[in-house]
Amino acid sequence: MAHVYNFNAGPSALPKEVLERAQKELVNFQNTGMSVMELSHRSKAYEDVHNEAKSLLKELLTIPDTYEILFLQGGASLQFSMIPLNFLQEGKVGNYVLTGAWSEKAIKEAKLIGQTAISASSKESNYKTIPALDELTYNEQDAYVHITSNNTIFGTQWHSFPTVSHAPLIADMSSDILSRPLDVEKFGLIYAGAQKNLGPSGVTVAIIRKDLLETNVDHVPTMLRYKTHSETNSLFHTPPTFAIYMLRNVLSWVKEQGGTSTIEAKNAEKAKIIYDAIDESNGFYSGHAHKDSRSLMNVTFNLPTEEDNKRFLAKAKELGFVGLNGHRSVGGCRASIYNAVPLEACEALRDFMISFNK
Ligand SMILES: *Cc1c(COP(=O)(O)O)cnc(C)c1O
Repeated sequence: MAHVYNFNAGPSALPKEVLERAQKELVNFQNTGMSVMELSHRSKAYEDVHNEAKSLLKELLTIPDTYEILFLQGGASLQFSMIPLNFLQEGKVGNYVLTGAWSEKAIKEAKLIGQTAISASSKESNYKTIPALDELTYNEQDAYVHITSNNTIFGTQWHSFPTVSHAPLIADMSSDILSRPLDVEKFGLIYAGAQKNLGPSGVTVAIIRKDLLETNVDHVPTMLRYKTHSETNSLFHTPPTFAIYMLRNVLSWVKEQGGTSTIEAKNAEKAKIIYDAIDESNGFYSGHAHKDSRSLMNVTFNLPTEEDNKRFLAKAKELGFVGLNGHRSVGGCRASIYNAVPLEACEALRDFMISFNK
């Protein structure tokens, strides 16, 4: 197929310029006569890439010096276990805000390790909303409070974050990290699998406040301690070097675009195009998320009947729109419009939605 519009939920679209840069450098990386994949992870050439990825992330998200940036493996899913392993001590409670399938998975792992609590939940409404900040409940024994900043499957997103002072606030930002400027200091730990907004799959970024590295973790396997990776500049063992190289390229692309403020404005413009198509369809398309909780990253919607959904998706596929089917657990349609999805793709989808309705 000559041209597609990629709306995949993850792994997802990468900026064309990033792919072209990788192509150009592939067989001979910076005159080493090798690809970046073939370099030792202890070589200067690789370490420069590794450290540049860290410093670009620090710059783009204005991460204070009191935080450490880690490159981990095992996806966001391993973080669901590492968090309680490192922080959920005896007598403490892992407090979770349930806003979708990923928060459910996160609490499920914590339950294997210690006590948990539900701070608030929008499960009753089939995860159409983000709870109001004043609905969140806290406990004196909270080891941490955990949220999912963007709910990839249901298409909801936190538009402001709670101020939590009695315990560290931890956020799974897998599907919206780097989509907007961020007040890092509200959080004790932020983590994200790279394959939505940061690069290819294989690397997980963690941004952790340094004092949290002092927690007693003597009982935790070495590889699963945050401390292990912070003490070794994420080079305790062989890191996913190619994924980190691609992450570096994505970060330098974001910087060239003008940084997270510019990206945020573009994302708002892109999302508006599709939400307007939904809102102006006289009910033919109906959005899953409540308006005030809508995600700028994943737009979820349904047509009047299951039969219509199927016909819409089949026709879309024929026209080169890829990945518009909703997650297998919820059905319907979903357009994932991460940073790398261009405005033209959203305009093309809007035009198709209008003509399909007609
Ligand atoms: C995709 C996703 C995950 C799972 O990430 P893996 O890297 O596949 O483990 C977790 N949380 C959220 C919010 C996601 O979007």
